[in-house]
Amino acid sequence: MSALPYFGRVGQSNGGQMTAGFFHEGELVGVLTTQPIDRVLDYKAPEGGCFAGAFVEVPLGPRKVLGVVWGPGKGDWDYAKTRSVIRVLDVPPMREEMVSFLQKAGAYTLTPLSAMLRLATRSPGLGDPPSMRKIYRMGSGEVDRVTPARTKVLAVLEEFGGLAFTLKELAEMAGVGTSVVKGMVAQGAVLEEESPRDLPFARLDPELPSKELTPDQAAAVAVLNKGEGYSTTLLKGVTGSGKTEVYLEAVADCLRRGRQALVLLPEIALTSEFLTRVQARFGAKPAEWHSGVTMTERRRVWKMVGEGGAELVVGARSALFLPYRDLGLIVVDEEHDTSYKQEDGVMYNARDMTVLRASMCGAKVVLASATPSLESWANAEAGKYRRVELTARFGAAVMPQMRAIDMRVEDLPGGKWVSPTLQAEIQKRVERGEQSLIFLNRRGYAPVTLCRACGHQIGCDDCDARMVEHRFLKRLMCHQCGETKPMPTVCPHCEAEDRLSPIGPGVERMGEEVTALFPDARVSVLSSDHYSTARQLKAHIETIASGEADIIIGTQLVAKGHNFPLLTLVGVIDADLGLQGSDLRAAERTFQLMRQVAGRAGRAEKPGLALLQSFQPEHPVITAILSGDEEGFWRAEAAEREQAGVPPYGRMAGIVLSGPEVGPVFDLGNHLARNDGALRQVGAVVYGPAPAPIARIRGRHRVRLLVKAPKGVALQAALSRWVGGLKLKGDLRLQVDIDPQSFF
Ligand code: ADP
Ligand code: ZN
Repeated sequence: MSALPYFGRVGQSNGGQMTAGFFHEGELVGVLTTQPIDRVLDYKAPEGGCFAGAFVEVPLGPRKVLGVVWGPGKGDWDYAKTRSVIRVLDVPPMREEMVSFLQKAGAYTLTPLSAMLRLATRSPGLGDPPSMRKIYRMGSGEVDRVTPARTKVLAVLEEFGGLAFTLKELAEMAGVGTSVVKGMVAQGAVLEEESPRDLPFARLDPELPSKELTPDQAAAVAVLNKGEGYSTTLLKGVTGSGKTEVYLEAVADCLRRGRQALVLLPEIALTSEFLTRVQARFGAKPAEWHSGVTMTERRRVWKMVGEGGAELVVGARSALFLPYRDLGLIVVDEEHDTSYKQEDGVMYNARDMTVLRASMCGAKVVLASATPSLESWANAEAGKYRRVELTARFGAAVMPQMRAIDMRVEDLPGGKWVSPTLQAEIQKRVERGEQSLIFLNRRGYAPVTLCRACGHQIGCDDCDARMVEHRFLKRLMCHQCGETKPMPTVCPHCEAEDRLSPIGPGVERMGEEVTALFPDARVSVLSSDHYSTARQLKAHIETIASGEADIIIGTQLVAKGHNFPLLTLVGVIDADLGLQGSDLRAAERTFQLMRQVAGRAGRAEKPGLALLQSFQPEHPVITAILSGDEEGFWRAEAAEREQAGVPPYGRMAGIVLSGPEVGPVFDLGNHLARNDGALRQVGAVVYGPAPAPIARIRGRHRVRLLVKAPKGVALQAALSRWVGGLKLKGDLRLQVDIDPQSFF
């Protein structure tokens, strides 16, 4: 049964509606459009006038575009030629708080305001009149003939009092065909009405009983709910300790105050489990905002958030840019997750922007993680964030044991990756009817395809990257640009036949190896490539969690928060994988990922075991992972970064230059590096230009300059002076990445 519509509203009194700045018809207003013009344009206010903040449609050349009235016009343009605003859209004006948030976030990330506005208006059909749909309720007429089917319809209408239904809902609940309802409409016994489609979301009830919290959990809730107004709390707790239960109580507290709450999740596949938990706690589902929801639903969410018809939003990072009426709490779950950093278009870190937005609207922030980012850990150490900790798993579950498997002494033939020690442990689980997870963070069949005749490795035509064989798709794929091509039978270089062979493992190849080792076990490979929709993926994860596989082989997809109650063994094929490379955060990432993956094991009563295959088990990061001395690890990592003056103890920015020809890109890079006066003034240093680790993507050569500055300098202002006035020739592009996370 679908949720019944609820016609209530929340937070009506708390809106902080924009009051100042009304413009009468014909007065000049400045309109910021979503078009890539970095200027506020003058228009005449339309008939009936408009408020500052109003969403409007304006003419731009031959087109009509979306914009927001940003303030008074400048009047530096012939009044007679100035065009008029076409119309004011039927949505609440942008609040002052949102205007300043976009300004500050834009200034921080050095993003033009028009691009920020695009982020804040990512909902189709904002200006459309609310589309209507037919709804059905009890009428006053009598039916001419009483039939069992008609009696059922009347019974449903009576049971739910004055509530309205869609035709389908009413027919389904009564267990009759839609023609029965239509027949009753004709007689006036059922009323058919037009109603706007963008209905408010069902009301959430914070007074429904919560789970009985453990003393630790209750203490954590008390800290989260202490005080009013802005605060950030780092909620650190091992996987399965009840972080979700705890922050749901922060949501409850926020709802009781009549304010809105937002929960950010790193992965849409996680939403459905969370929605179920929200429903269990508050009696109804929240609004959802991510790439998996329909356009109609997106519009509904955007509008209801602004009108107060949505109390809780669950979504991806872009949900931060919705026009909340009165946001009182933002939870960032798995706050360390790299997916919070948007790496294309507007480069922003949703975790940092969350703290900014919350501090501007007096909201609380909860950053939840079993393995916090070093940034958040350091902020808690410095006293900027509160910190609460859940150290034990809920109930009988205990943290898994962790051990390394020293691959130097394992007896393993070439082209095979599951060590005898790991095989033996899997065998035991298969016999006991428990699940094992084999973790390898590599999609596809094999990362490299090599010609045994000439040594050629098949690469992407447009990127400096090797193509990855995906046997499931029967193609080679470039993981940088997504380009695919059929698997050739002859070497593209020397034309030798049948000499191409796969090198190294991907999850698909692991699937083959494991199936051969355990022919009677049910083996299931979980990789994002195998699903065309989030729904399919979710469904598959659920069947696996319910026991439909003995051995799961997965990429990092499985590391993120899913619950597999029958899982008691995690085997990591290559624990050293993430430690290679020069990334500043390589150690931190490996530590987080390994602890997260290991945390999948033993979440129910049976104890778990995590085994890490490694060729360097004495590496300090591996020993830290195994010992579980998290504080020790962070302190050591923090000391190293402080020494090097890198984030979070110093500031960094990346400048990525790209173009179709390598020469001009380097010339521009060298020019910038030589003319770095604006940076030196503030004590910042520029490194490079250097080719990016993947020097060419999609046919564009990429060069990087890295800027390092002491903490506390006005880095953005210096960067603006340095690259702001630059005129880029031809097809050259420049992108600024503040607090870069990863370079590739
Ligand atoms: P985390 O978010 O830290 O991984 P969860 O909140 O998902 O942990 O809790 C792990 C499991 O334990 C969930 O199934 C949850 O419902 C259950 N759980 C946690 N705390 C309680 C509690 N106080 N009472 C009942 N069940 C709980
Ligand atoms: Zn490519």
